Amino acid sequence: MKTVIVTGASRGIGACIAKEFAKNGYNVVLNYFKSEEKAKEVSKEIESLGARVLLSKADVSDPTQVQTMVEEAIKVFGNVDVLVNNAGISISGLLIDMTNEQIQNLVSTNLVSQIVCAREVAKHMIGRQSGRIVNVSSIWGVVGGSNETVYSATKAGIIGFTKALAKELGLSNITVNAVAPGAIETDMMKCYDAETKNQIAEETTLGRIGKPEDIAKAVLFLASDDASYITGQVLRVDGGWNI
Ligand code: NAD
Repeated sequence: MKTVIVTGASRGIGACIAKEFAKNGYNVVLNYFKSEEKAKEVSKEIESLGARVLLSKADVSDPTQVQTMVEEAIKVFGNVDVLVNNAGISISGLLIDMTNEQIQNLVSTNLVSQIVCAREVAKHMIGRQSGRIVNVSSIWGVVGGSNETVYSATKAGIIGFTKALAKELGLSNITVNAVAPGAIETDMMKCYDAETKNQIAEETTLGRIGKPEDIAKAVLFLASDDASYITGQVLRVDGGWNI
């Protein structure tokens, strides 16, 4: 049985990805940060699908906690076949109003965390000459968003990192890809009112806001054998927004 680590999996896109992998026969390392109760609920759902779960509390912006999470995963399941770097935060606002702390927080939670998680699993995957890493970026990392400058920078950084790491790990039979979601209905979109959401839906070619399942299925594909000749790519899953 294959094993996937999904970061930030207590809710939203991460929880959906974790369930999608469980449905497809994976053991799941379900990383969460603060929401223990929600993580336990997701864990129960996954177990009811017949998969094994390791609940792993770790702040992924802390390299020491990431190292412990990956070590535990290997100890419990023997291998890590797939890493899904999903955890992330959004802090909107004009750049001139952003505090040093907010900037640091965005960079360490969204970008440094993915780099460190990838480093820790890559050490293990290189030894096995096999693995898949899927990084969750954002459409803002592709086109840049006003009022989202630092967030956009972290998500663009993920794209650069994905391409570079794909080149570094290709000969070890490890693929590294990114998904760039458009607007997806999760807690991250709570800051938008109904009118703004309608406007986003109208601007989207498919006429609707995305669902976490839309992202989860794309991530599962990139981790599957069917995607074994795809690496260093950024898959936009955005309903055709801004094409
Ligand atoms: P969300 O806020 O519902 O979920 C984010 C998850 O990350 C939560 O479970 C949270 O606990 C976790 N997390 C945050 N900081 C963490 C830390 N330090 N350590 C461990 N976990 C941490 O949002 P979501 O929409 O599900 O976002 C998931 C990913 O998708 C993020 O990377 C986000 O940037 C990206 N994304 C979302 C959208 C969208 O419209 N919802 C669009 C583009 C990209």
